[in-house]
Amino acid sequence: MSEDQPLSEFSSTDSTANGDTAEPATVTYRWQSDGAVCEQCETSTEKQWLDDAQFVCPDCKSWD
Ligand SMILES: [Zn+2]
Repeated sequence: MSEDQPLSEFSSTDSTANGDTAEPATVTYRWQSDGAVCEQCETSTEKQWLDDAQFVCPDCKSWD
């Protein structure tokens, strides 16, 4: 019941941390500029995704 609060009060605290996007909060992505080995297929890749507690290449990532 505090609709009279200015919007700036909210945007200053959590404007980007908790938006309305549909992205699941569990998605984890990392970039290894010098390459890192996929934990499933052992292919060296710069882009890794966290899938079931393993960092894997995009080909091994389970997107469903
Ligand atoms: Zn892989």
